[in-house]
Amino acid sequence: MAKICLDPGHAGGSTDPGAVNGKTGLQEATVNLVIASQVKKYLVAVGYQVLMTRTEEEQVETDSLEYRCELANNWGADLVVSLHCNSAASKQANGVEIYTTAGETAGDRLATCIINQVTGTFPDLQLRADWDDGDPDKEENFYILRYTDAPAVLLEMAFISNPEEAKKLADSAWQTDMARAVARGISDYFV
Ligand SMILES: [Zn+2]
Repeated sequence: MAKICLDPGHAGGSTDPGAVNGKTGLQEATVNLVIASQVKKYLVAVGYQVLMTRTEEEQVETDSLEYRCELANNWGADLVVSLHCNSAASKQANGVEIYTTAGETAGDRLATCIINQVTGTFPDLQLRADWDDGDPDKEENFYILRYTDAPAVLLEMAFISNPEEAKKLADSAWQTDMARAVARGISDYFV
């Protein structure tokens, strides 16, 4: 079975909590890890091999994108899926978005598989898509996408800066639904 590298964004704790909800103190790094761990559980259950680039709440050495990319590449990952929560100055900003590197790549198809499952699971979650090239992913040469050898996507699951979405990101049922959607999207890629 394929080898899936899951990349829970940010090193966590005081090293790098990622985006933080100003009101509740909810930290992006925590949410990323919780959901990635569940994605792993679902993928392992159906036979995939899974490597996580961070497994602890705070893991100082993961505060290096180079370290994360090397982990994925040395392991020989077939896919890399990076999980993040979005943040914006405006509390109104909301929705889900997924990124791939510029141009047509295998990451585009992976992105479409994942986003279809996520939007199917959460009809109320606004899809922030870029349909210019006919598919929903946005293009950005993020380090983790650019320096991993395998097809890679970066999913911004929802806005931690938005009060309603922060509530969802902290909700264990929502986390489980998101994890299952991401795992199904990854499986769909191999169908
Ligand atoms: Zn992030």
